[in-house]
Amino acid sequence: MPTRSPGFSTLAVHAGAQPDPTTGARATPIYQTTSFVFNDADHAAALFGLQQFGNIYTRIMNPTQAVLEERIAALEGGTAALATASGHAAQMLAFHTIMGAGDNFVAARQLYGGSVNQFGHAFRNFDWQVRWADSADPESFESQIDDRTKAIFIESLANPGGTFVDIAGVAEVARRHGLPLIVDNTLASPYLLRPIEHGADIVIHSLTKFLGGHGNSMGGIIVDGGTFDWSKSGKYPMLSEPRPEYAGMVLHQTFGNFAFAIAARVLGLRDLGPAISPFNAFLILTGIETLPLRMQRHSDNALAVAKWLKEHERIAWVRYAGLEDDPNHALQQRYSPKGAGSVFTFGIKGGYEAGKAFVEGLKLFSHLANIGDTRSLVIHPASTTHRQLTEEQQVSAGAGPDVVRLSIGIEDAADIIADLEQSLARV
Ligand code: PLP
Repeated sequence: MPTRSPGFSTLAVHAGAQPDPTTGARATPIYQTTSFVFNDADHAAALFGLQQFGNIYTRIMNPTQAVLEERIAALEGGTAALATASGHAAQMLAFHTIMGAGDNFVAARQLYGGSVNQFGHAFRNFDWQVRWADSADPESFESQIDDRTKAIFIESLANPGGTFVDIAGVAEVARRHGLPLIVDNTLASPYLLRPIEHGADIVIHSLTKFLGGHGNSMGGIIVDGGTFDWSKSGKYPMLSEPRPEYAGMVLHQTFGNFAFAIAARVLGLRDLGPAISPFNAFLILTGIETLPLRMQRHSDNALAVAKWLKEHERIAWVRYAGLEDDPNHALQQRYSPKGAGSVFTFGIKGGYEAGKAFVEGLKLFSHLANIGDTRSLVIHPASTTHRQLTEEQQVSAGAGPDVVRLSIGIEDAADIIADLEQSLARV
C-alpha cells in the first residue's frame, strides 16, 4: 500500500517531534541547558570534526531548536533549516554564508524598513553592497547584476505594502545568472505560500511574526531549499572550497543538498553567535501547531476589514491584494489563493496628522511596532518603523505620510471593525 504523505496541518503539529525518549514527555521539552556531555573523547572529536551530528553547545545546536528547524523545513518543503535569535539574525547569517567583502546582492525596494536599513547601513560595514530593484518588475533585477553579485532577495508578500511578488519571474532572472533567490516569507507563512515551489533557493522568516504567532518571542529561521548548485560557478567559496576550520572539508561536497544550512550553522551561527533560546524555540513550536487555523482566520478577518474600509468616506484608498479590484489581486490568486494574509495598508484622508490621531484613538488595536500577533495591531509607518528612510524611500516602500498599516488579529471581525469605526468618527 502506498504511504500517504502527511498534509500541512499534520506536519504543523507533528513534524520533527517524537515523544521524549528519556521521559516520555509528549510536548517537546525545553532543553534549557548550555552544553551536552560527550560519551567519550572520540565522540567529542567526531562532533567537533563534523563527522557525526550531535549536540555540543546551545550556541551551535540544541534539541528544542532542532525540532523547530525540522518542522519548518517540512512546512516549507526544504531540506534543512537553521533557527536564529531573530529574523534579522537569519538574514545576516544567510548573507554571511555567501558574501565576501566587495560583493553585492540585488534586493527589492519593497521590503520591511528594518531590512532596508540592515542592507543599506549595517551590511555596508562588512563591505556588502545592496542594489535596489522594483519587485513589480522582475527584469529590473537583471540590470543591477554584475560579476560580484551573489544573490537576489525579495519578500514574497511585502511589508508594509501587502503586495505579492512574481516569485517565478524573479527566480527566472536568478536562474539565468546562476544566482540563488532568497525569499523572506514572513508575511505569508508557508500556510499561504511556499516559495521553494516557485523557484526560491533559500527561504527566510522572522519567526517573531505569524509562525510564533502570539507576540511573545523573537526568532528567525533560514530554510535551505536544497535546489542550488553552490560549486558550479566558484562564487561561493565558503561552500565549495576546503575549510581550514574543519580539516579541509568541502561543505558542499560533504553535505550536498543541505550544505547551505550546515555552513550557516558551523561557519556563521557558531562564530557570530545569534542563537535562539530553547524557551523561545518551544514557544514558537507551540504557536506553529495552530498556524493553519490562525492564518486562515487572519486572512478572512483582514478581507472583511479591507472591504469595510474601502467603503468608508474618510479613507482615501485601501491596498489589500485580497480585494478583487486590487492591482495585485491576480498575483495573490496565483501565489496565495487561500487568502491574502493579515497585513495591509490604507491611506487616511488628512495625511500625516490624521494618521497619527487615528492610531491614537483606537482601543482594541494595540499601537506597536510588530505584526503577526493574535491581537490586532496598528502603526503609522512614516512616524515610526520607516522614519529613518527618506520620504522618497518611504513612498517606494509603501510607507508614505498618509499610510496606516494594520495587522489584523484573530478576534471577532465585528469587534475589529467597531474599533476602527469609533476612531475614524473622531478623527
Ligand atoms: N522580515 C520581515 C518581513 C519583517 O517584518 C521583520 C520584522 O518586522 C523582519 C524580517 C525582521 O525580523 P525580526 O524582528 O525577528 O528580527
